[in-house]
Amino acid sequence: MTVLRKEAGYRPVKERIYDFGEVEQTLNEQDRKLQASRCMDCGIPFCHWGCPVGSKIPEWQDAIYRGRKDEAYFILNSTNSFPEITGRVCPAPCEKSCVLAIHEEAVTIRENECSVVEQAFEAGIVKANPPQVRTNKKVAVVGSGPAGLSAADLLNRAGHTVTVFEKNDAIGGLLRYGIPDFKLNKSIIDRRLELFAEEGIIFKTNVNVGEDITKDELLDSFDAILLAVGAEKPRDLPVEGRDLDGVHFAMDFLMQQNKTVAGQEIPNEIRISAKNKNVVVIGGGDTGSDCVGTSIRQKAASVTQIEIMPKPPEKRSDNNPWPYWPNTMRSSSSHQEGCERRWWISTKRFIGEGGKLNSMEVVKVEWAQDESGRWVMSEMPGTTEIIPVDLALLSMGFTQPVHVGLLELLKLEYDARGNVKTNDKKQTTVDKIFAAGDVERGASLVVHAIEAGKVAAKNIDEYLREK
Ligand SMILES: Cc1cc2nc3c(=O)[nH]c(=O)nc-3n(C[C@H](O)[C@H](O)[C@H](O)COP(=O)(O)OP(=O)(O)OC[C@H]3O[C@@H](n4cnc5c(N)ncnc54)[C@H](O)[C@@H]3O)c2cc1C
Ligand code: SF4
Repeated sequence: MTVLRKEAGYRPVKERIYDFGEVEQTLNEQDRKLQASRCMDCGIPFCHWGCPVGSKIPEWQDAIYRGRKDEAYFILNSTNSFPEITGRVCPAPCEKSCVLAIHEEAVTIRENECSVVEQAFEAGIVKANPPQVRTNKKVAVVGSGPAGLSAADLLNRAGHTVTVFEKNDAIGGLLRYGIPDFKLNKSIIDRRLELFAEEGIIFKTNVNVGEDITKDELLDSFDAILLAVGAEKPRDLPVEGRDLDGVHFAMDFLMQQNKTVAGQEIPNEIRISAKNKNVVVIGGGDTGSDCVGTSIRQKAASVTQIEIMPKPPEKRSDNNPWPYWPNTMRSSSSHQEGCERRWWISTKRFIGEGGKLNSMEVVKVEWAQDESGRWVMSEMPGTTEIIPVDLALLSMGFTQPVHVGLLELLKLEYDARGNVKTNDKKQTTVDKIFAAGDVERGASLVVHAIEAGKVAAKNIDEYLREK
């Protein structure tokens, strides 16, 4: 009752925009204990309900407060294979459902999570723990994002021999080549991967399953297969001028930057650079905000982020009460770094000269509910404007997994949204093939992918033991 919420905060803007180091800072150990002591150990901890991996939050807050580093880490790790990653990038639905948040500021659960793992690594508590007994069952995990890695960890712990295939040149999925280094330093992923490898997980990069390994080889060589290939099909904006040089998908831009930070050379002919350019990021979500931070670090002349939806309210509305996720205005560290944000803006066309983008036509829109309660958008007359832009980054989300290739070859069924259809055991419609993460849920969050990997691992293990 006497300790107020204290966040570690970010490095100063004028310092952090010159590098790709993580922006978030850390509290000292004493302050961290005080923050953990704010947890009331509620009889019914809604944070535990709000966390998709069901983290036993009050228990490890108590362990932090009492200085029991190993206990805090083991409780945390018992529901989450890599809390050092959620501790950095999770939007923390747990905090939105923290009972303190009804009348006060929530416990700093996400930051506490990160500090538990960092202190555990520092104290040498986190060690490889290979399984004592092997089952001689072989599992292929296709895709190395958080869903695939979470499942691989648990299946390996159960004694199965797990091979993770990844089409890219490095393991991690969107953790590696989507989320920028200023939110998640890639050495954090490598540190965990080293332990996984020591524990016996086999990693194969640069292997596009379906091309480099045929579908039949896959089915014949493994007792069970987990598809964790993500939802890689980006939503496009098929308006006039879409083909102009200067209009790109956000992921192409972000991936190049992460590769550059990793020391790879991007050939000039394909390099997408924001340097000295007027950048417009189309899409107001998290991927868009990552494009903002990346453009600022690449020394863009200006950065504007536009969103077609209305500006969210500052406070919860009556029909969006605690403990649900609040549909309120959110700002990231990147937004503080110098970006104009605009809502109710729709893109009409891209304009260019000699094949090169130089401006775009946008219009203000309004949203109203029709008789059936559906929200309908209409353009506001007389609000058309031309804005200068040299680089437009399309970050309007992802529509579904890529069907062409592996998924088509396996003849899997899809749900109405084009995601791979699974039952509650994450089984697809084809025997011995399971699916987890964005591929079956649609583009979502790291913490949801981790949970999906856990559910798939449990059910693959049961499937293999019954065989
Ligand atoms: C730019 C960006 C920023 C994000 N930031 C956050 C954030 O801050 N917090 C958060 O919670 N979530 C964030 N997300 C969402 C989060 O990253 C995803 O929801 C999560 O990574 C999905 O995990 P996944 O394992 O299902 O798939 P992915 O991470 O997409 O991994 C799928 C992997 O499968 C591989 N693959 C595909 N096909 C094949 C094949 N045939 N053979 C071999 N490999 C294959 C792909 O190359 C990829 O590496 C962000 C997403 C993006 C795009
Ligand atoms: S994984 Fe996310 S929701 Fe769960 S405790 Fe950590 S920050 Fe909260």
